[in-house]
Amino acid sequence: MTQTTVLIVGAGPTGLTLAVDLARRGVDLLLVDAVAERPGSRGKGLQPRTLEVFDDLGVTGALLATGAVYPPLRTYHRGQVVWEGRMHEPRLPTAAVPYPMVIMQPQWRTERVLRERLAGLGHRVRHGARLTGLDQDEDGVTAVLEDGERIRAAYLVGADGGRSTVRKAAGVGFHGETRPAERMLLGDVTTGDLDRDHWHMWGDPATRSLDVALCPLPGTGDFQLTAPVPATADGEEDLPEPTLETFQAVLDRAGAGVRLTGAGWTSVYRVNIRMAERFRAGRVFLAGDAAHVHSPAGGQGLNTGVQDAYNLGWKLAAVLAGAPGRLLATYEEERLPVAASVLGLSTALHEKGTKGDPDAHVRDEETRQLLLAYPGGFLCEGPRGGERVPDAVLGRVRLFDVLRGPHFTLLTFGDAAPDQAGAAALHGSAVRAFTVALPGRTGDLVDVEERLHEHFGAGTAVLVRPDGYVGYHGAPGGLEPYLSRVLGPR
Ligand SMILES: Cc1cc2nc3c(=O)[nH]c(=O)nc-3n(C[C@H](O)[C@H](O)[C@H](O)COP(=O)(O)OP(=O)(O)OC[C@H]3O[C@@H](n4cnc5c(N)ncnc54)[C@H](O)[C@@H]3O)c2cc1C
Repeated sequence: MTQTTVLIVGAGPTGLTLAVDLARRGVDLLLVDAVAERPGSRGKGLQPRTLEVFDDLGVTGALLATGAVYPPLRTYHRGQVVWEGRMHEPRLPTAAVPYPMVIMQPQWRTERVLRERLAGLGHRVRHGARLTGLDQDEDGVTAVLEDGERIRAAYLVGADGGRSTVRKAAGVGFHGETRPAERMLLGDVTTGDLDRDHWHMWGDPATRSLDVALCPLPGTGDFQLTAPVPATADGEEDLPEPTLETFQAVLDRAGAGVRLTGAGWTSVYRVNIRMAERFRAGRVFLAGDAAHVHSPAGGQGLNTGVQDAYNLGWKLAAVLAGAPGRLLATYEEERLPVAASVLGLSTALHEKGTKGDPDAHVRDEETRQLLLAYPGGFLCEGPRGGERVPDAVLGRVRLFDVLRGPHFTLLTFGDAAPDQAGAAALHGSAVRAFTVALPGRTGDLVDVEERLHEHFGAGTAVLVRPDGYVGYHGAPGGLEPYLSRVLGPR
């Protein structure tokens, strides 16, 4: 029997993010996937908060190098441009938000960048390894693969997508709805007939209906084609195969005057809006699409999976290093409500799109996932407990540089040198200390430091969780009891 500590099933964006996070923490892991590396642009929008998570994990640079902000949308009708607009208002980086814009990247490249990062940490995905069943007892989980191999792990994470075998084997229900009449043809195609500076759409402005769209995928020669297939009374029987010929026929019917020269990945998407009733069953956890599936409207699916993984990674590592098991319960406590609200948001955007609302293309603050917070739970103490810690410029370093890595960070404000010894006395290498200088000495940078100091208040200690949210915020004397509760007694 193969032995590992954490078995991750599914090497999509969720499983890969978790594997990178655990690997950098030195946790023994195995990441398996049923199939070979997948092509396909699918989830192509990386939200600002995801770019912050990826910054911590060391992949944002590689993703920005070939990614781009979303191009303006341009709609044609009967050969004329009838409308132009933007999905996201342009914003410049600020001290607090270094990545203000949604970045487009085909999903295959996001996965490739994560795989390369994982390889740099000494791990490779085991492809062609399909989980077919699992069993668990008090000490661990035994997974069975299609070829009969058995793998024993302390914990198993199902990141195996919407049809999750792990979820079914763990007996967790997946409630919600499938809308069989709402389907969309998808494909990565090539053409020499269009500029790559717009997301080209063909439709009828009178009815606000979309026939077909071609979105240039940055850093490639491809366009992502999306074409809704109108609902019919008799369901799906008339659904055409997603082939180059079908795509060409759709474009011809729309009068696009575009000749496709090739098609790579193709698919049919059906609207599924579902959520797992639990995100945990004993030693088995569900993350990403295995736990929740949404409409692609609003670009939340991949991003929510990445945040699941980032929430779970440090908790698994801490418990494996001796923290109380109670910490693991906070994964579902924190992520299930977030998934429910993301589901509501993406469904509302989807319905605006199908109804043809005039502002259906506009994406607001909520989709950027920067406001996401975990207030009021077991891990929160103090007025700003559970909030995302903003970035800031602190003398020569950014706050995100200070936070980067697997540790908790203790922030204090004042003139004292960082009290590393004090932090170590609190909880060994799990906590690093940083003192933010008070304003009055550093010229132009004073303003920014002052704001961070005002954000948290004089005389307070702020303990930042490894995933960048405020854990403890209050008088320094409360830190030790907080850490003992969360990580166990020293
Ligand atoms: C057209 C479209 C546009 C989208 N746009 C966006 C967007 O803009 N932004 C966004 O955030 N999201 C978007 N999404 C959603 C996004 O693609 C998914 O949410 C994302 O892929 C989920 O990632 P995951 O890792 O959880 O699961 P998946 O990507 O589904 O990965 C699951 C993996 O598990 C493997 N697997 C399955 N079963 C087994 C098994 N039994 N054993 C071993 N391995 C197994 C699979 O082979 C697969 O590699 C879009 C989706 C579509 C279709």
